[in-house]
Amino acid sequence: MSARVLCIGGIDSSGGAGLLRDAATLTAMGLESCAAVTAVTAQSDKAVREVQLMPPALVASQIAAACEGPVDAVKIGMLGSAALVDAIARALPDRPVVLDPVLVSSSGRALLDEGGIAALLAHLVPRATLLTPNLPELDALAAALGCSPAQAIGRLQDSGCGAVLVKGGHDLTPQDATDRLYHRASPVAEFHAPRLDAALRGTGCQLASAIAGGLAQGLDMERAVSEAKRRLTARFRASCAATAPEATRGNMSRA
Ligand code: PLP
Repeated sequence: MSARVLCIGGIDSSGGAGLLRDAATLTAMGLESCAAVTAVTAQSDKAVREVQLMPPALVASQIAAACEGPVDAVKIGMLGSAALVDAIARALPDRPVVLDPVLVSSSGRALLDEGGIAALLAHLVPRATLLTPNLPELDALAAALGCSPAQAIGRLQDSGCGAVLVKGGHDLTPQDATDRLYHRASPVAEFHAPRLDAALRGTGCQLASAIAGGLAQGLDMERAVSEAKRRLTARFRASCAATAPEATRGNMSRA
């Protein structure tokens, strides 16, 4: 039987990001997925129009029902509120967890309320096998911890998070998009990909769910990250080929 990943996050009505992106990613890997919906959003690629958070008890109940079947790894995306973070932390199964700290949509709408970051740091980061912040998310976590982004990587690991993958897509200085995996057991691992001009949505969702899929299949962390990055780069290339034959610089993704 295929490995099965529990995806906890929001529905993006455009299909660009969120649970639909997670499920598409896992299906393309030949894996099964199950889901707990934290929020229903009405959004296009340009704007988030409405967000309706689900009651925390309903989310906990979805997780419990999903866990009646096998769950080999968990991927967590949009959480919405501190109350949802708390409910999810209590309901989580004891499995590898990839936590994508989704704070803001690429169209600029906050996807986690004010107390949410503190709750995330207190209750979910310690349960995460891997945390996958992009650079603005790392800055926000560091601000909440009251330290620099570089110090935050160590503080997050001190709090119990197994590893931190800092995604470099927002750093437009280097030629390529470099993600760095900070893992206490080994030296920092770098994952390079060419910087391609494709305004893709849901890149952070795809990367995190593909890593969760890799862990569910029994890959080690470095292999799971490099395979996930390879899949994401393939999607960038396909998008570039479909829209403009000549790839130029300027990766517009949030990953
Ligand atoms: N909407 C939902 C429900 C999401 O889960 C996410 C990201 O995880 C987003 C929006 C943001 O995606 P993007 O950065 O592509 O706008």
